[in-house]
Amino acid sequence: MAYEKSLIIIKPDGIQRSVTGEILTRFERAGLKIHAMRFQKVSVEMARKHYSDHVNKSFFPTVEKYITSGPVIVFVVGGLNCVKKVRTLVGATEPCSALPGTIRGDYAHQPYAAPGEPDDKPIRNLIHASGTVGEAEQEIAIWFRPDEVVEYSRLGDEIFAF
Ligand code: GDP
Ligand code: MG
Repeated sequence: MAYEKSLIIIKPDGIQRSVTGEILTRFERAGLKIHAMRFQKVSVEMARKHYSDHVNKSFFPTVEKYITSGPVIVFVVGGLNCVKKVRTLVGATEPCSALPGTIRGDYAHQPYAAPGEPDDKPIRNLIHASGTVGEAEQEIAIWFRPDEVVEYSRLGDEIFAF
């Protein structure tokens, strides 16, 4: 097991629905350590950089409109096998498939075009989380300068020293 970091974005619907505290609490209670955090609006340029793997997909215009529609909270958390842990806490991409107990399962509910229908609506799934360790490294470098990602000890870290 390795110490990893993951990039998370509480998307505009999370801010609008006032569930940011509850979402942050999920990660804190799971034991993940916060390394960086910013409240900001997302420019079209940043949206395209962040979703570079998706820019040519048919649904990308909906994703771009969604992520740039209002402020977001972008943050970095860390822990052993953090990328997998975070994806487990976040749940499946489509809210209708996200299990209860996951963030998307418990809080994401917006309607969207069903599979096979034209992609005219975004999947409003509340939160972004890096999919792989490589994606996490790439995304952290897009959103934060190295000096904005803070290393520190937390009360209780010493109990994991053996
Ligand atoms: P994630 O890693 O679980 O967020 O999912 P992906 O990396 O596959 O997709 C990135 C984001 O693009 C998702 O969170 C959705 O907001 C959006 N998205 C993905 N697939 C679709 C799709 O088929 N249709 C639409 N409208 N949006 C999609
Ligand atoms: Mg993804």
